[in-house]
Amino acid sequence: MQNQHGSSHDSHGASHSGGGHDGHERPQDDPRESLWYRCYIPEIIRGLKVTMKHILFRPRFTVKYPEEKYNCPGFEGSAPGYHGEHRLKKDEQGRIKCVACLMCQTVCPAKCIEIEGGEDEKGAKYPVKFEINMLRCIYCGFCEEACPKDAIELTTKYYQVSTSREEKIYGKERLLNN
Ligand code: SF4
Ligand code: SF4
Repeated sequence: MQNQHGSSHDSHGASHSGGGHDGHERPQDDPRESLWYRCYIPEIIRGLKVTMKHILFRPRFTVKYPEEKYNCPGFEGSAPGYHGEHRLKKDEQGRIKCVACLMCQTVCPAKCIEIEGGEDEKGAKYPVKFEINMLRCIYCGFCEEACPKDAIELTTKYYQVSTSREEKIYGKERLLNN
């Protein structure tokens, strides 16, 4: 009983003496216990320093999209493996390369391609209607891979801003000029 009382008294006494002879840091010596620190003022100042460093000295990454376009480094012309918007290709004579074989429509897992084939006066097949519902497309690139005529490709275009669902149905002219 006496021992228990004695040790309790010692410990109490040590906490007030400020000596630290036992080698342990006491709470009142810890800078994190100070009112200055516990008001988060040092952390707020540290955060503001980081913010100001970015505002004043770092290059800007934001652009006023969609008025301003941003060209990702490496996207000028090509970006191997990137799947952006589709383009229907033309041959050297400026004719559409697509022969409306429906391979891309068949292979498309999202069922978002709709083609209606026709024949010109020479009997050559071409798509009278070629539509892609870009809202359903998952940009897998299967259409490009399946095409036997190299008539469709996925470009690096990723500016896909529109204000209505109808605009996301890309027709033949849009795809040819993409
Ligand atoms: S990229 Fe894939 S989902 Fe999109 S149209 Fe082509 S095949 Fe269909
Ligand atoms: S697979 Fe090629 S040629 Fe056949 S319909 Fe599609 S784009 Fe046209």
